[in-house]
Amino acid sequence: MLRWKDILIFAKYGNPEPARRVKHTDAEWARLLPPERYRVLRQQATEPPYRNAYCRVYEPGEYACAGCDSVLFAAQEKYHAISGWPSFRQPRARNAIRYVFDESFNMQRVEARCNVCGGHLGHVFPDGPAPGGLRYCINSASLRKVDVEGIGN
Ligand SMILES: [Zn+2]
Repeated sequence: MLRWKDILIFAKYGNPEPARRVKHTDAEWARLLPPERYRVLRQQATEPPYRNAYCRVYEPGEYACAGCDSVLFAAQEKYHAISGWPSFRQPRARNAIRYVFDESFNMQRVEARCNVCGGHLGHVFPDGPAPGGLRYCINSASLRKVDVEGIGN
């Protein structure tokens, strides 16, 4: 289980290696992705709260990166954080997410990116539920839900 100190260490000293890497030029991404996904994944846009696809979805399954199809989160880690965006307690794997310090908008935050394609997902905060205490606040536009029946742990 990842905790906030792990996130800070990854952001400061380097992230775990992903299982694979997907790279495209910006022009290729613009061609490959629908406009809303491109704006969020490649231009760090934030979609509006509540008016997004997965905010209120709690069915079983998994959430994959909309840029490269890497599995990022299990649906069982999704919880209701009243933030207006999909919120998760833990990623599917220790090396699924890339953590980057983000000082934009005069805030000190940790950005969450897909570790395989580098796509912007959202941010991670240390105010999540016990025991891990993490809240991954993720744009729906950067996710694609994969419906898997009877997924285990
Ligand atoms: Zn990706």
